[in-house]
Amino acid sequence: MADTGTNGIDGTLRRIEQRLTTAARTMIEQRAQLGAWAQPPAPSDAEALANVKSRLEIARYALNEVREGNLISDADPGAHFAWLTAYVRELTARVAEAEATGGSVAQLRTALQQWAKGEGADPGRLVAALVDTLVARERQRVADAAAAAQALAARQAAARQPRVRTDEEILQEAIRRKRAEAGPAFDPDQRRLPGDVKSVLVVNGAEYHGANGRGGQLSALTLALVPQLVDRLEKWTETGCAEVAALDRYLVQANFGSAAAAMTAIDQGALRGMLIGTVCLYDRTAHHPGTWEVRTPCEQCQQWLKRAGIAAYTKGARS
Ligand SMILES: [Zn+2]
Repeated sequence: MADTGTNGIDGTLRRIEQRLTTAARTMIEQRAQLGAWAQPPAPSDAEALANVKSRLEIARYALNEVREGNLISDADPGAHFAWLTAYVRELTARVAEAEATGGSVAQLRTALQQWAKGEGADPGRLVAALVDTLVARERQRVADAAAAAQALAARQAAARQPRVRTDEEILQEAIRRKRAEAGPAFDPDQRRLPGDVKSVLVVNGAEYHGANGRGGQLSALTLALVPQLVDRLEKWTETGCAEVAALDRYLVQANFGSAAAAMTAIDQGALRGMLIGTVCLYDRTAHHPGTWEVRTPCEQCQQWLKRAGIAAYTKGARS
């Protein structure tokens, strides 16, 4: 809160704050809690007397500082010594009088208000401004502490929050899992075995899995949709590919209702940015379990993937 021009004032105010008794500190803290423009509630007699004594205490510390040549504000310090001396003299006498005679606090307050309207006007304003400054400093300290606590809580929450995995990380992990799985049994009569190609489509963190040779299990929607997305070459059938089976799982889950609705969604880019990865079992023999490798989708699948805006993950693909 202090800038280079008010370092001296800041030091003075800090020394005053450090000397405050509990009662004076409490008065400052309570006023700071009220907010800048709120009116404090009417004090009880005891509180009113404590407040008068607290102001007197603050004025005494300020007078000590001014006597030593220190600034208490950036206003012209010329009259501060005289005003603070008058304030301390007046209030000391009035408080002593009230306490000695058992006079009422209301009487004391009235007498001080009278004084503040006359010769005590400048001294009263100076001390009131000083108290306001101390209250503002306390309010700033509370705000700073709250902001620091909030920042710390945010940092701790961020540290606790597990990092959200990207679709690419989810896909890579799915591919790792698939490569660790056992392949289908060897059949010397079949070059490609059902289940020896596996795909995973990742959509906003969700995985949709498919395997080759599952044509009979595809939904009617997928069977109607995919041929419209592909210029079919002679030997290809959309029912054979693992990528199509993975897409089918997604289309069923997304509940498009009809191939036409799915086609509209594709044209509107609803599938754009999705990721698909495929692994294929190579070198499977009667005596060797084979090796799962990432594979590039077939020519036909590349057509519909491109049309839908789905990216094929082919890092490390065997070709
Ligand atoms: Zn394919």
